[in-house]
Formats: sequence, C-alpha cells, structure tokens
Amino acid sequence: MRRALELARAGWGQTAPNPMVGAVVVRDGRVIAEGCHARFGAPHAEVVALAAAGDAARGAALYVTLEPCAHQGATPPCADAIIAAGVARVVIAATDPNPVAAGGVDRLRAAGIAVEVGDGANAAHESNAAFFHRFARPERPFVTLKLAVSIDGAIAAPDRAPSIWLTGPESRREVHRVRAGHDAIAERQAMPVTPARAGAWPTSSAARVQKGRGRAPNSQDALLAGGPSAGPPHSGVCAAFGTPRDAATSDGM
Ligand SMILES: [Zn+2]
Repeated sequence: MRRALELARAGWGQTAPNPMVGAVVVRDGRVIAEGCHARFGAPHAEVVALAAAGDAARGAALYVTLEPCAHQGATPPCADAIIAAGVARVVIAATDPNPVAAGGVDRLRAAGIAVEVGDGANAAHESNAAFFHRFARPERPFVTLKLAVSIDGAIAAPDRAPSIWLTGPESRREVHRVRAGHDAIAERQAMPVTPARAGAWPTSSAARVQKGRGRAPNSQDALLAGGPSAGPPHSGVCAAFGTPRDAATSDGM
C-alpha cells in the first residue's frame, strides 16, 4: 500500500476534481504491475495497473488507495474492470466519500472478491485532504495558509536590500508544488501577477489569483472556470513527482 500511495502522488495538481489514486497488483508477494490516475480524464489507477498486469492479474491481489468507482463517469466503472480481470483480493485504503462514485466495495464483494478496507487509511486521507474535505464539510473551502516570515516574525529585511527574497529556493519550489494542488489562490502582496507566477507548476485547473483585500474567489467557480487541461506530456508510466516548469520564476514568498 505504501507503494500505491507513492504512485498516487504522481497525480498532484493534475486530477481535480478527481482525487489522486495509486494502485499496485501483487502476486506471490511481489508487485507485478503499477498504476496511477495521472490526470483528469485519464484512465483510473486500477485500470492502468490491471492493463499492465494483463493475464497475470487473474487470482492476484490489487492494492488501491481509494475505493474503486462503481459508476460510469469519464471512464467505465473500475469495479467492473477488477471483476473482469479475475482479481481474487482487493485491499483498499479509504472508502470513496463521493456518493456518485461509491459502491465499489459492495459490488466487488457481491462478485465474490475478498475485500479489505483501511490499510493506509490515514495516509490516504492526508494525501487527498482537500478531496475528502469537500464531502465532509462542503459549506467551507479547504484553505491552506502560506506565510513568508523570518524566524523573528518579520516579513522583510530591515533595509529591504539587497534581495527581496525572504525565503530560499527550496521553500519557493515547495510553495509552487502546493499551489498546484489548489483551485484558487488569494494573495495580498505588492507584486504583479504573471502567468509564470500563477502556474509555474503544471496544474489541471486554472488557478485564479486574486490580490488585495477582496473576497477570496469561490473555489467551485474557479474549478468551473478552469476545468481540465491536457497537462504535461505523460509517458503512461507513473513518475514519483513532477517538477516545476521554471523554479526561477517563483513568486517572492
Ligand atoms: Zn475508477
């Protein structure tokens, strides 16, 4: 399951409004195939892993970070694909909070497949925190606060020179990784918004950047305005993590 969770993170910033999901097919204690949900509209992790496993999936175990879907969405139900592949046992980290997609566990069990739920549940919830929050507290947005402050609580060097940077390249890189996982960005600082700063990290939803004192943009609006994009070229293999297009264009915080 640890490997499946690692694979899931390859979809960071690419899968909204879907969650990130990873899957591995295990046979005789060995991982024989892997898959992830690379971006919105792409095949789901289970289907990718099962396709990679081929006939070897028959009688094997499937580890997946989220309950396989039981509905026809952008792709056919994964539960049906698992049943058709002849998988004997399915281990699921977390059940799907989305009432539209849930029901995979029941469907798999009805087909005679042994299903276990809960292995890696905490890590699965943590890595898809915004996704789970959307169903648990739909009336409130999931907010990440980013502050650039010095260790003594200041927001700038006393002489404002020689550099505007209060943070280092590592933190700026991390900031852009985190930003890519959000649907909207509200910021208050005296720097122009440029396309590079708005999306230096590839993201599936066009993050809306709002400056000043105004109300933060509604994340659902931003989601609808953004929608899925093709994202970066994907080889079909789940890389562990992406990289920012140009870390040098990071914003000042
Ligand atoms: Zn699915």
